[in-house]
Amino acid sequence: MPDLDSMFDKSGPSYWSRRTDDELLSMQLTTDDPESVENLSTEYPPDDDAIVEMAYNVTGREKGKVQCAFCQYPNHFRGVVMRFRSGERRLVGRNCAQDHYGVAFEALTKDFDEARTRLDYVERQRLAVAQNVDLLGLLRAMKSDPAVKAFADTKTRLKTFIGSPLWDRLVRAADKDEMITGRMRSEIFQGRPIAYAVDGDTGPVRGADLIRTGPAVSQRLSEIEVELSTVMETLRGTEVQSRAIRAALVRMVDLLKQIEAERTRMRSVESFFDDGNLIRVGGWMSLNGRRNIRVAVLPFRLVDDYGQTECGPPQDYRIPGKALVAAMREAVVLQRKVTRRAS
Ligand SMILES: [Zn+2]
Repeated sequence: MPDLDSMFDKSGPSYWSRRTDDELLSMQLTTDDPESVENLSTEYPPDDDAIVEMAYNVTGREKGKVQCAFCQYPNHFRGVVMRFRSGERRLVGRNCAQDHYGVAFEALTKDFDEARTRLDYVERQRLAVAQNVDLLGLLRAMKSDPAVKAFADTKTRLKTFIGSPLWDRLVRAADKDEMITGRMRSEIFQGRPIAYAVDGDTGPVRGADLIRTGPAVSQRLSEIEVELSTVMETLRGTEVQSRAIRAALVRMVDLLKQIEAERTRMRSVESFFDDGNLIRVGGWMSLNGRRNIRVAVLPFRLVDDYGQTECGPPQDYRIPGKALVAAMREAVVLQRKVTRRAS
């Protein structure tokens, strides 16, 4: 706490509104143990200049309620520590203070509560920046992960394998969530299980995200990177307005969702190259003029015996960005510790 003269300096704006972010961060604005503050007296409060110094909330504690300087008996769980010009302190229930000080107390608490709200924002801002040990670095690492290229390459390989005009029809079905029809029969071929197209069985294209039209994952990640760097720039600023901090944190939550959406999209490779889906897609190709398609195993993949081509999932494919998502979750304090509010 700065010196008393500064606290009771009435020449300019109020005490709490004059505090810088760094000062607020160094101050204790709430206490769970109000009886332990120094210079505390339980006597009736003096008629002296006063300031709300801290708030307390001891709801549910074993020791019971706090003795109020006005009421003179323990009857409050929530209240404030009032500090007087003399340096003395009193514990006062919030309602009591309101009754005894009225308008004056309202002004004092408004000022104090604003400081506490501000501190909340500044804490969240500093936490987000502290976590940014390298959010942008983690995002760039995700973008340059081989799996991002493998995802795009797989789509290209599949497009080549399926060929026109079937590819366009499959993309349209995926875009519109339309069903396709195709089924295959399993057989043992040269000692290994394979599947041949037989007839119709209708269902959706699984892992449709792999083939849907839209920007590439790397392009989306680049767009997210631009936005994230703007957000981080805001959060790294000093004395940033609470509104701007809030907007930046909301933006970051949104970017986190967008990154998770890209990771979900990348997972579509696994669903597409699932045997059931390949049997449906291969069967659909067969029903539409590509009679030479079969599904092979290890890994499950589409094979065109006539064209001597095949298309399977990428090797060593792992979804990147796990560390990034964890760090961003921390930064936006989704699992933020619960601060006890005294009011
Ligand atoms: Zn009271």
